Amino acid sequence: MKISAILVAGGTGSRFGGATPKQVLHIAGKPVMRHAADAIAPYVDLLQPVGDAAIIGPALDGLPHLPIVPGGAERQDSVRAGLEALAPHAPDIVLVHDAARPIIPTGTIEALLAALQTHAGAIPAVPVSDTLKRGHNGIIAETVSRQHLFRAQTPQAFKFAELLRLHRIAAFGAATDDAALLEQAGLSVALVSGAEQNIKLTYAEDLSRVQNILGGQLIPRIGTGFDVHAMETGRPMIICGITIPFEKGLAGHSDADVGIHALCDAIYGALAEGDIGRHFPPSEATWKDADSAKFLRHAAARIAARGGILSNADITLICEQPKITPHAPAMRARLAELLNVPIELISVKATTSERLGFTGRGEGIAAQASVIVMLPA
Ligand code: MG
Repeated sequence: MKISAILVAGGTGSRFGGATPKQVLHIAGKPVMRHAADAIAPYVDLLQPVGDAAIIGPALDGLPHLPIVPGGAERQDSVRAGLEALAPHAPDIVLVHDAARPIIPTGTIEALLAALQTHAGAIPAVPVSDTLKRGHNGIIAETVSRQHLFRAQTPQAFKFAELLRLHRIAAFGAATDDAALLEQAGLSVALVSGAEQNIKLTYAEDLSRVQNILGGQLIPRIGTGFDVHAMETGRPMIICGITIPFEKGLAGHSDADVGIHALCDAIYGALAEGDIGRHFPPSEATWKDADSAKFLRHAAARIAARGGILSNADITLICEQPKITPHAPAMRARLAELLNVPIELISVKATTSERLGFTGRGEGIAAQASVIVMLPA
């Protein structure tokens, strides 16, 4: 019997916030969707990812899979694309799984496959435990009985030929999950026991729940960084990856991004891996006028290589001018993008030194950063 799986990673994650698609955020040392793929891979002969190849490819690096196919406008279109790509391989069974669900509890896939022996489809589901209210204009209209109600999860399992046939005849937007197509066709879909930990990363707060489950063996490591660069005319003012319009810039061998340098040193410090000068010696011409984004990507890669996660980062910039606060949101967004984490984890703030010292006289800008990195115990 040939078993296949479609990994659906088509969503843009607008409800999640942050620049990085949630499916490729790193949790416990690897991307969210890699956790999902690694959980499915032992059960399947064919793995068909669907979505943006530029994003999915690196996340699945080293794992055997069929060529990535692009997703569609709706989830149903993405699944259909995956089914059509699998069709020439004629699998007997297909598991359809959301890439934003990194935790597939032990026993789930076995239970689904067992249920398929007597049903056309099977899905994991958990009974609804909250009391349900129907609301209208902010007022409760009625209490809805939760008896017989379940929350549907994935992976959902189907006889391949049947699901492909139903997708080919389905109307646009007819189903938010694949089981619905079988229901509409009058076929029986079994409910098997789902689990609360099979979390779909939808909102930013879901991230910490998943981290707590996957990263239970991680311990916090604090790191601090400090950096200073002198002001110089004729150079761009680049702080935390953002170019700020100002009469002067910062002097230095690289682009002199004082904020990113302090942040990198904080991360290297948490890892006890020296400092930015050790990884990128100023004596090397390669790093002359270098974009400091490269340094921060390296620091993020070191966290991942150690099997860790960034818990949070807090950066303080110390200067009278330029004014930082108007640029802080863009700085946070850029740093989050470079670190591959949600923006909620990154703080950028500013203070002055009350016109005292070199920062007070506008001779230079100082930055300090603190991070907590969670590393395997
Ligand atoms: Mg520096």
